[in-house]
Amino acid sequence: MAKYSRKDLDNFAAACGLYCGACEARIASGKNDLKQLELMAQRISILTGMSVTAKDMHCEGCQSDIRTLHCRACDIRNCCFSKGFTHCSQCEEFPCQRLKDFNSDAFPHHHEVLKNIQRAREIGINAWLEEQNQRWRCPKCDSNVSWYTEKCPECGAKSPTGFGPSPFGE
Ligand code: SF4
Ligand code: SF4
Ligand SMILES: [Zn+2]
Repeated sequence: MAKYSRKDLDNFAAACGLYCGACEARIASGKNDLKQLELMAQRISILTGMSVTAKDMHCEGCQSDIRTLHCRACDIRNCCFSKGFTHCSQCEEFPCQRLKDFNSDAFPHHHEVLKNIQRAREIGINAWLEEQNQRWRCPKCDSNVSWYTEKCPECGAKSPTGFGPSPFGE
């Protein structure tokens, strides 16, 4: 799989503290994997009650103009941008209740956002992006892996950093 460019990484610091480079929607979009995008669309439709298509799942990252349907309607991002920020690390209200609730909801990959934002505050967003870019890679073949990759789709190696089975697809 092609490595992320610097321009890709700039889109990956989600306002809420997520790293979009490890998001299944971004990874499937990068590979134009329509089967995976369709599967995710079905799961998101069930989870959100919205009618989501594979096209709605195409995403280039939170800081880009091309985002999934559910990330286009994100309260956290809207709050952040309405205050003139691009990332919650820039806000003096951090950690607000909205972020605390997000950090403890039903999705395991959300459970690190407070830690991620704190880290971005300490070392800066660019250095944090580089850390994440190193972290979410297959230890054997260096492909990008997602929060829920248990086995690298490229070489089959076990992924040490995943959060277990995906709530969004296979
Ligand atoms: S779906 Fe949301 S979390 Fe995933 S890459 Fe897009 S903006 Fe980031
Ligand atoms: S109040 Fe601040 S920390 Fe909370 S969501 Fe809005 S911008 Fe982010
Ligand atoms: Zn691999």
